[in-house]
Amino acid sequence: MRIYKVGGAVRDRLLGIPVTDIDRVVVGATTEQMLAKGFRPVGADFPVFLHPKTGEEYALARTERKSGRGYGGFTFHASPEVTLEEDLIRRDLTINAIAEDDQQNLTDPYHGQRDLEARILRHVSPAFAEDPLRVLRVARFAARYAGLGFTVAPETLELMRQLSESGELQALTAERSWKEISRALMEDQPQVFIEVLRACGALKELMPEVDALFGVPQPEAHHPEIDTGEHTLSVLEQAAKHKQPLTVRWACLLHDLGKGLTPEDEWPRHIAHEFKGLKLIKAVNERFKAPRDCQELAVLVGEYHTHGHRALELKPSTLLELLQSFDVYRRPQRFEEFISACEMDARGRKGLEERSYPQADYLRGAAKAARGVAVQPLLEKGFKGPELGEAIKRERLKALKTYKETASA
Ligand code: ATP
Ligand code: MG
Repeated sequence: MRIYKVGGAVRDRLLGIPVTDIDRVVVGATTEQMLAKGFRPVGADFPVFLHPKTGEEYALARTERKSGRGYGGFTFHASPEVTLEEDLIRRDLTINAIAEDDQQNLTDPYHGQRDLEARILRHVSPAFAEDPLRVLRVARFAARYAGLGFTVAPETLELMRQLSESGELQALTAERSWKEISRALMEDQPQVFIEVLRACGALKELMPEVDALFGVPQPEAHHPEIDTGEHTLSVLEQAAKHKQPLTVRWACLLHDLGKGLTPEDEWPRHIAHEFKGLKLIKAVNERFKAPRDCQELAVLVGEYHTHGHRALELKPSTLLELLQSFDVYRRPQRFEEFISACEMDARGRKGLEERSYPQADYLRGAAKAARGVAVQPLLEKGFKGPELGEAIKRERLKALKTYKETASA
């Protein structure tokens, strides 16, 4: 039996960047031999094993054939006769199809090293089209390595376009898609993920609500970039630059979906887009079964981001409603994430990336003022039940009035 490192570990070592996880392929072995060596099998469908000591993944060399729609629609064939070359050809990209033995000798039948040099993401074989997830994977690698100068090969983009047009993307499960989307959003240039998906027509299939933003104008006074799609990309770019967490990045991507619903004769204005967008945001959330914290923040940011921008002009009563909507008393972190998303939205505009955003500190101050209202004295005055709630609200409102007066003095 021969063992090789494959995939990301080889690719990233050759690129000179830190390797996180190591995938290995085993050639010339049977399941029985692996079990006899103490390897633990994982998953029912794949001939994949975990090393008894290191817990790292070892997969038997295999070939695969498409036998139906979606991910389940694959037949695998693993046997000691499957060669390294046969295993490598089923992989997505040439740069992911390089094998390395323990002497660091490389087996590179599909010229992955050449494409690493040339900074090209290129599919290995036409079998690429058999798994639609690869469209998302390529877009994710494009987002990750854009900073190194990588681009998608034209012929690969063409295959991705055909895959998108075929409707196969609809066969992806929410779980597989979300895994790629969430990882892509956490890359250095998440906007490239969206750009590549759009360039091959996959965005229209996966998130038509985001795709619809391209070509929709906004008022130039607030949005020098004009186009709503371009704005969304810039907001994502800022979110990555400012190292925002996934929740914020997801909310940034979806915050302006309502603008895609504005009738053309109302352009470039988008009255009530915050409210109109909510059903779209919820639909996208559900389509990918996004985690609850991502879902919640996206909906709240969608509804309230313009409140954030107008923070300094808001009446104390509106400020209070905003803070109540976020349940800032029990969920201070979520409000902090809202503030970040608003700030990214404000910076994601052409030429305004370095602007100051005094709204952020103002909102933090308001939250602090409202949270500073003590309940104990009200209890001591004998307030109970709904009356207590009303009394707390009154005190919070008073605190916000004072806050606004002091802040503007
Ligand atoms: P990462 O740094 O994200 O782990 P990776 O390239 O190692 O990148 P993995 O998902 O760990 O990605 O997969 C390991 C290898 O298995 C890939 O490099 C690729 O060769 C192959 N692979 C994984 N998923 C697919 C797929 N859907 N289609 C084809 N090949 C795949
Ligand atoms: Mg890997």
